[in-house]
Amino acid sequence: MSYLELSSLQKRYGNAVAVDDVSLSIERGESVALLGPSGCGKTTTLRMLAGLVAPDRGAISLDGTEITRLPPHRRNMGYVFQSYALFPHLSVARNIAFGLEERGVGKREITNRIEEALALVRLAGLGLRRPKELSGGQQQRVALARALVIQPSLLLLDESLSNLDAKLRDAMRHEIRSIQRSLGITTLFVTHDQVEALTMCDRIAVMHRGRVAQIGSAEDIYERPATRFVAEFVGRANVLPLARDGQGRATVWGQSLPVDAAADSDLFVRPQRMRIVPVSEPAGGDTARLTGRVLRSVYVGDHVEVLVEDGGHGQLTVEMPSGTAVPADGAEVAVVWARSESRIFAREAS
Ligand code: ATP
Repeated sequence: MSYLELSSLQKRYGNAVAVDDVSLSIERGESVALLGPSGCGKTTTLRMLAGLVAPDRGAISLDGTEITRLPPHRRNMGYVFQSYALFPHLSVARNIAFGLEERGVGKREITNRIEEALALVRLAGLGLRRPKELSGGQQQRVALARALVIQPSLLLLDESLSNLDAKLRDAMRHEIRSIQRSLGITTLFVTHDQVEALTMCDRIAVMHRGRVAQIGSAEDIYERPATRFVAEFVGRANVLPLARDGQGRATVWGQSLPVDAAADSDLFVRPQRMRIVPVSEPAGGDTARLTGRVLRSVYVGDHVEVLVEDGGHGQLTVEMPSGTAVPADGAEVAVVWARSESRIFAREAS
């Protein structure tokens, strides 16, 4: 049995199923992201873990003990909200002390632990300030210190960084990750931001419509998406409609391709896994190849996006590293990629 087990959790609101049969096994010290679009059930799952929402069905166990019906204050979990949720009238130190006072920890120990927690989040010396005298990033550090000071069995982060500007968010991601690792604290965090999931966790659970569509390392999810939804949601993909020619061979844009295609399916290829070569260059044995015309190129800093179309059939995007020679608009080109980079998913009934 893993340190944290979620077994077939379900939560309905009226007729709507917010969380539908979620099962997860998380090891001690692991950091796992719940990643998914708005409304897929991430926050509801986290709130069930914290005891803020009661599941209709299923069970949660932590360190071998079932906690499904335990009230929040008996779960020993640190929860960091998007809004920080600090007490505005209390000093930073008193905010951090709150959970310790509730637990009846002695005064001297509280003082020591506040000092330690402030140092951990790099706010030493700011204990006497009020939250409004701090920047957003500093307030979020106080919220983190408050969650960590109780030495929680589980740290829960709910979109905790989304109020920060891009640069600060990036710095905080690395900082939280290194604190999480150094303390060895089991962490679950909710995000709809892929980069956040990739930088802050050991494994990602991609959620879709109240279910876990796939759980795995960042590489598993990106390189071997289990479902069409995961392939579309994580990273970018060209989605090319597959058809069959008279001999039953797979075609895209009326051109045959060396892939095994089922009927009513689409071929997925990541734009950065495709290359543009001269039309005269023959395809190798393990290479898939389509010809088309460059519609336009867009320079986006670290790479160039080249849009290639085939007269009326469709378009695809190739990502080329900046600094490489980009073909002119209107040029006839061949787009090639390793066959192993192709993923095929059934077309969804709409
Ligand atoms: P977001 O990223 O937007 O926060 P989420 O993935 O965290 O989304 P949840 O907040 O878990 O999603 O919501 C899942 C579904 O349950 C949504 O359709 C939402 O509208 C619904 N829902 C959540 N809380 C309640 C509630 N208290 N009452 C009724 N419906 C709710």
